[in-house]
Amino acid sequence: MGDFDPSAPVIASAPVSRRIGVLGGTFDPVHIGHLRGALEVAESLALDELRLTPSARPPHRNTPQVSAKNRLAMVECAVAGVAPLVVDARELQRDKPSYTIDTLELMRGELAVDDQVFLLLGWDAFCGLPTWHRWEELLQHCHILVLQRPDADSEPPDALRNLLAARSVSDPLALKGPSGQIAFVWQTPLAVSATQIRQLLASGKSVRFLVPDAVLAYIDAHGLYRASN
Ligand code: ATP
Repeated sequence: MGDFDPSAPVIASAPVSRRIGVLGGTFDPVHIGHLRGALEVAESLALDELRLTPSARPPHRNTPQVSAKNRLAMVECAVAGVAPLVVDARELQRDKPSYTIDTLELMRGELAVDDQVFLLLGWDAFCGLPTWHRWEELLQHCHILVLQRPDADSEPPDALRNLLAARSVSDPLALKGPSGQIAFVWQTPLAVSATQIRQLLASGKSVRFLVPDAVLAYIDAHGLYRASN
């Protein structure tokens, strides 16, 4: 064995932590409100990856109007070639309700301990948090970024006030460590919802420019959301 050489260059071995965003939703269908918000957050927070995770049987809401297969295909069309947006289909592969806490635990198991995970929630989804399965554990696995929705009420529910007082930071770029804090993020206000898009399509109207052209082509090719479906 050779002797230790103190003049030898030190090779940095500490791995750089990754920054992973997660945006869950039914995406029934995916639209510019999701996509523009996701892209803006990914760019402003310099995320390495932002995973859009379509949910299979969402525990908190009505059954999606179109199949998981079609919703997944539309999200795939929407983000194809749009780094760092990617699709994570794991919730569609589970044969049980898609709880976000389970998804985060699985993702955490695949990441390094220092990696930062940011869960993106629109304001409406954030306000519904106290009804989520094991919601108080979410911040053990991720930071939460709240996307402002222009059509949102302004007051959070009482159950979230203490959490906000204890965990929120004013600057999303100041979120430290792998998990545990909440920040509000600005995005171009787009008062678009999947409900509105389904209603437009059901009444025979166009949704052009509310969804990417590739998603529109998929909807048309498969006759989705039209009144006869
Ligand atoms: P629906 O109208 O069917 O309830 P949606 O348009 O709210 O659907 P979801 O798939 O339920 O879409 O939303 C997934 C996530 O994206 C949620 O956290 C939601 O708050 C957020 N989101 C949806 N639309 C917007 C928007 N226009 N601006 C900001 N966030 C949004």
